[in-house]
Amino acid sequence: MQVCTTIADARKALEGAEHPIGAVLTMGALHEGHLTLVRKAREECGTVVASIYVNPTQFGDQSDLAAYPRGIQEDLCVLREEGVDVVFIPTDAEMYPPGFDTWVEPGKVAEPLEGVHRPGHFKGVCTVVLKLFNTLRPDKSYFGQKDAQQIMVIRQMAEDLALGVDVIAVPTTRERDGLALSSRNAKLDFAERQTAPVLYRALCLAQELALRGQRDAEIVRTAMRECISGESLASIDYVSVADAKTLEELTTIDTPALVSIAVSIGTTRLIDNVLLG
Ligand code: AMP
Repeated sequence: MQVCTTIADARKALEGAEHPIGAVLTMGALHEGHLTLVRKAREECGTVVASIYVNPTQFGDQSDLAAYPRGIQEDLCVLREEGVDVVFIPTDAEMYPPGFDTWVEPGKVAEPLEGVHRPGHFKGVCTVVLKLFNTLRPDKSYFGQKDAQQIMVIRQMAEDLALGVDVIAVPTTRERDGLALSSRNAKLDFAERQTAPVLYRALCLAQELALRGQRDAEIVRTAMRECISGESLASIDYVSVADAKTLEELTTIDTPALVSIAVSIGTTRLIDNVLLG
């Protein structure tokens, strides 16, 4: 496994690599969720490249950035075990050198949900993903369904800007109690960890209501809010039942819907989602 820290070295490492080249872009502190992406890439691609970069421009809150979990040596170990060919670990100076002044401005699909609660987040995500794509030039890229809006935003960018990269969604990996794996879970203390599965419980409740024929989206949102409000350590950022294509909030669930939530458990903000229909 080649470990590269500069764009030039990463390009060199991938020169003449067997296609398709599959990329898994991460912020490190790797867990089984990340590894499902790596394994899918390994199954489908001649070459697998992973990146580890905690992108400062997608964090609005600088204390959130500073507290983001990191563990580069462990990360390299697991990537080696998974048979990754190339790892790209750029520095901030490599990604945002002095004078850096070009940004990707995503459109409508970036506006609701995370767009409202984390202004500028997707601008930072798109800009760094485009730069990583330009560096690694993958044929396919693997993203987690856990960050459903992120996939939609990146897919739109890939289409609009003719990037020639397939954006592949990989189902969410969960703990046995339903909690979606996330690097941020490491920040939960014992009581918070006990509380955190409420996100998945609320999503399952939405699924169950829809299965029983409930079509009123507001009734579903209210039931989810009530479910989460029962937990004293949980505070809701948003509860959404939206059109799975446009992310516009639905009145009636008469089209495939993305049910998504963002909830802070103590000071740790978690997101999760399920698809209906
Ligand atoms: P991150 O390191 O959090 O930026 O995540 C890197 C990639 O892993 C993103 O495409 C995430 O959507 C994906 N990912 C994170 N958690 C999970 C999970 N529990 N299941 C599947 N994919 C995930």
